[in-house]
Formats: sequence, C-alpha cells, structure tokens
Amino acid sequence: MDIQRQHPLHDLTTFSIGGPADYFVEITNEKELLEAFDFAQNKQVPIFLLGGGSNIVVHDKGFPGLVIANHIKGISALRDHDQVELDVGAGETWDEIVTYAARNNWAGIECLAGIPGKMGAAPIQNIGAYGQEVSSVVKNVRAFDTHTQKMVDLDNPACRFEYRKSIFNGSLRGRYLITHVTLELKAGGIPTITYQDLKDQFPDPEKAALSEVRKAVIETRAKKGMVILPGYENYRSAGSFFKHPIVSKKDFAPIHKAWRQTNHTDHIHWFWPLASGDIKLVAARLIQEAGFEPGYRKGNVGISPKHALALINHEGGTAEELTHLAREIQERVEERFGVRLVPEPEFVGFAEHPLS
Ligand SMILES: Cc1cc2nc3c(=O)[nH]c(=O)nc-3n(C[C@H](O)[C@H](O)[C@H](O)COP(=O)(O)OP(=O)(O)OC[C@H]3O[C@@H](n4cnc5c(N)ncnc54)[C@H](O)[C@@H]3O)c2cc1C
Repeated sequence: MDIQRQHPLHDLTTFSIGGPADYFVEITNEKELLEAFDFAQNKQVPIFLLGGGSNIVVHDKGFPGLVIANHIKGISALRDHDQVELDVGAGETWDEIVTYAARNNWAGIECLAGIPGKMGAAPIQNIGAYGQEVSSVVKNVRAFDTHTQKMVDLDNPACRFEYRKSIFNGSLRGRYLITHVTLELKAGGIPTITYQDLKDQFPDPEKAALSEVRKAVIETRAKKGMVILPGYENYRSAGSFFKHPIVSKKDFAPIHKAWRQTNHTDHIHWFWPLASGDIKLVAARLIQEAGFEPGYRKGNVGISPKHALALINHEGGTAEELTHLAREIQERVEERFGVRLVPEPEFVGFAEHPLS
C-alpha cells in the first residue's frame, strides 16, 4: 500500500477548505480497504473514508489519522422483466450512475441528477432532491463492519433511512465502510414529477423521457448554483449547508406567529405539510428572514448569490471562518424563530462538533 504522509485534503473537497491528513491512501478493492484498516489499527489512529468530498468540512489542522480515498469501481446490471438490479462500486461517481440509468430508460433516480459525490456516500445521508430519495431504490448495502471486522450486507430496512439520515450518519456513524450498493430500478418506468418546476415542464409524466427529466433537473439545479459539472458556474460549497427543519403542528404555531410579524401572508413558499402531519420548513427562507440574503459575505466565506442555503468559500476561506458564519446563522434563526438549524455536512478532524 502506498500510504502517504501529510497529504493535503482541501483539493479533495468541494469547499476547498481544510488541512492535511496525517496518513492518506487510495483503495480500489475490498482487500486494499481491509489492509488500510489494519494499518490504522496498528498505528492506533482513527480512519475517515473519503468519497467525492462534497459533504464535508475539514478542520484547518486537517485529520489526525488515516484518510482512505475510495476508488472501488464497477457497475453490473441484472434484469428481470421490468426490474433492474444495479450493483455499483462505492467509488463510482453518482451522477454518472444517474446518466447511465436514464440512458437505459431505468427509472428511480432521474431527479437525483447533478448531485456531486460517489455511490458509497449516497446512502449515508440518504441523498434527495426534487421529490426523490435514494432510499426508495436502495436494495442492499455491502460494507465492512469495523466492529466485527467482517463484510456485511444490509438490506433497506436495516439502513433505517429517514430525511437526510440513516444508521450511517446516525446511531452507527462511522461503523460501516461501504464498498458496494445495489439499486433496484424500473425499466421503462415513468419519471417522478412532483416538483412544481418539473410539473411545469412535463405536464404529462407518462410522455416524459427519463433523460429529458434528468437534463431538466440539472438545468433547474444550475439556476441555484447547485451543479459542479463542466460548463456550469461553480461555487465552492457542500450544497445545502442546513437541513430543512421538521416540526410538529403544535411547535409550528409559534414559528408561524414569528413569521407573521414581518409577513402578512404565507404566499411565499416557506413550509409544507408532510403526510405524517408534521411540517417541513424551508431552511433558506428562515435564513433570509433572519437577515442573511444570498450574496452575503463575511471575510472569505459567505452565502451563495444563487441560494441562501449554500455557504460558500470565496477563496482562501478557512474552516474556522465557515463554522463561525454557520454558527451566526444558526443563532440568528433560533433567535427569530426558536428553531435550531442542523447542518448537513460532516465535520472532519474536529475534536467536538462545532455546531451541535
Ligand atoms: C453543489 C452541491 C449540491 C448538492 N446537492 C445535494 C442534493 O441535492 N441532495 C443531497 O442529498 N445532497 C447534496 N449535496 C451533498 C453531497 O453531494 C451528497 O451528500 C453526496 O452524497 C456526498 O458524497 P461524497 O462522495 O462527496 O461524500 P463525502 O463528502 O466524501 O463524504 C460524506 C460522508 O460520507 C461518508 N462516506 C463517503 N463514502 C463512504 C463509504 N463508501 N462508506 C462509508 N461512509 C462513506 C464520509 O466518511 C462522510 O462522513 C450537494 C453537494 C454539493 C457540493
């Protein structure tokens, strides 16, 4: 294994922020993953499994352990009538899987086009966008269990998926190192058209081609500065920095009252009711209402000019500046609405969570 010392991490993250990893290795198969794990055990250092670095904030001092960059590749499809099982190596690029599925006319992930990162990270926070979540197509997650030190297969219920949540970033955070994910797609399926932007463009979903929907999703995302693909304006960010808060109806009442102090109507789309009876609040609206407009800048970091939910690094920003701004936003939103925003990205190399 080619273990490197003091390897820079900032260029391996979409924020372009953070110090080096004490140790760094690239792996391309499960055997190398186990060797890397053994190395860290022998050195008694923590490990961090890196995908595309699009959902992390790395500490300015870096990571005091072994960073394992996952390059496990491979895609194989098994078709039975209209069911397609797609087995994907965790190091494959997520958006390429979406493109591949749409090109083959396999439905289920077309609205998740343009999300950066790799296959292995998709189940971690149960990536979602435009009315789809990856949890609705995950059949199996194959992973190395760092506790039992064995390879395991976790089926969909075992992953306990919720909104931007699973066992992998929840109760069993860091325990499983994912090597493969099996997705269950539908050949010739109808695209998911639930978002208004998409409804306007595709009034009859049955007539919409999956590849057209995929393209429309990318264009919609681009207007919000949420695409990191060649030819699109790029911001150094982790996409949405905060999750949309979900509150009970009872807890919503005082929030609504606070909103009405400065807004006479609800005509701005700032919440929506869920099937569970709870209410999901649009985090970007709360942030703007708390005084942070798109384009807000503080030092080298700020808020994307295209979306209030994306914090960005203009150039030369540090993790300290970024977490400082995030805390300020968190506090102002809490003062204004009594709601504490929960960050989406993982914090790497921090002794304590900087925004808990
Ligand atoms: C412009 C932009 C737009 C975005 N839009 C969306 C969006 O619409 N919806 C959405 O849900 N997210 C979005 N994101 C967030 C991000 O792209 C996703 O969370 C993505 O799945 C992260 O993948 P990654 O490979 O970059 O993971 P990384 O950032 O490398 O890692 C994230 C976490 O996953 C863990 N991890 C990574 N791979 C593995 C593995 N194989 N096994 C175990 N743990 C692993 C890491 O250890 C870390 O804790 C966006 C980000 C950006 C920059």
